[in-house]
Amino acid sequence: MTADKIYPSAAAHIRAMAAFALADLGGRADGTLAQNESAFPPSPRAIAAGQAAVAASRLYPDPDCLELRAALAEAYSVPAEEIHCGAGSMDLIGSLVRAFAGDGGTVLSTVYAYSFIAAAAAQAAMPYASVAERELSVDVDAVLAGVTAATRLVVVCNPGNPTGTRIDNREILRLGAALPAEVLLVVDQAYGEFDDQDPRPVFDLVRGGRAVVTRSLSKAYGLAGARVGWGLFPPAVAAEMRKVQHANNVAAVSQAMAVAAVRDQAYMRATVARTAAIRDRFLSRLTDAGYAVVRSHTNFVLVPFHGPAMAAAAERRLRAAGIIVRPLGGYGLGHCLRITIGADDPMERTAGILAAMEQGREPN
Ligand SMILES: *Cc1c(COP(=O)(O)O)cnc(C)c1O
Repeated sequence: MTADKIYPSAAAHIRAMAAFALADLGGRADGTLAQNESAFPPSPRAIAAGQAAVAASRLYPDPDCLELRAALAEAYSVPAEEIHCGAGSMDLIGSLVRAFAGDGGTVLSTVYAYSFIAAAAAQAAMPYASVAERELSVDVDAVLAGVTAATRLVVVCNPGNPTGTRIDNREILRLGAALPAEVLLVVDQAYGEFDDQDPRPVFDLVRGGRAVVTRSLSKAYGLAGARVGWGLFPPAVAAEMRKVQHANNVAAVSQAMAVAAVRDQAYMRATVARTAAIRDRFLSRLTDAGYAVVRSHTNFVLVPFHGPAMAAAAERRLRAAGIIVRPLGGYGLGHCLRITIGADDPMERTAGILAAMEQGREPN
């Protein structure tokens, strides 16, 4: 009789979870219109700074990101002591969840929140719950109604991904004021640079010690490949984060690129304006063609179709033309596609293909 072979196995909560699902890029490294990457390259100054920093790669990076925090403090008019950086805002969100997991606490978010939040909770074996949105936007009353005695973190994305919508900052302040004292509010502002609202009232919320704001250099600054995120953190929260983050996790080349990119605010603002202009042209073309598109405050748009079969057909039609977009079945939005704003040419072609599909549709 032979004994059953025993193999090492991962923890039960890891075995139970699925790997984080990215768009199927069909082998294309550039992600085309599927990953909300910038349509434009980063500032030439960031590229030059990164090239210069390569030569010093013998050294570990500054674990405190001092230069980057100083540049961010100046650009965003916030104290450098409140800024904490990470290897992308995913690192910040993941580390926050890990720091607050255990003790029976749960994460609460909204049904169309960025899917990595649920993944981060699953990695940390922290229970995750979500509440409904209203018209594809965060519903503060629903969030407040969803809070239980176990809630430790509330995460809202404003503007949201994959919806592209945003709520008024006064609603975020109302949420912050109404949450119980033991709950930390996390406001994910990965698209904050595309939002025309004054960010200062929400930034000021951090000073109360019960809120965090996260930001990213991946979208408006065109540095998705560098993996740099930052946020405003109450010092006590940042101190706990440091325990769970890996030291030296923001690469030296990335820090150098980020410093130069943040110092070049004029370039970032011009990129955001160019992107928004292409986006709004694309949206009006789709509206004219009969699509009920959702107004966007980001660098992507959510396009609803007449059901999941139509969305899947459009996704295939675009893919055949070399354009990769993001299906949203995983979000429960199978009738929609999320389309990142690219340069003029792919957007023209995308609009043309979608308009032709809508015109050729049988009336229902
Ligand atoms: C892209 C995105 C992030 C992740 O950004 P990184 O800084 O690249 O990790 C976080 N939140 C939302 C809502 C996003 O869309």
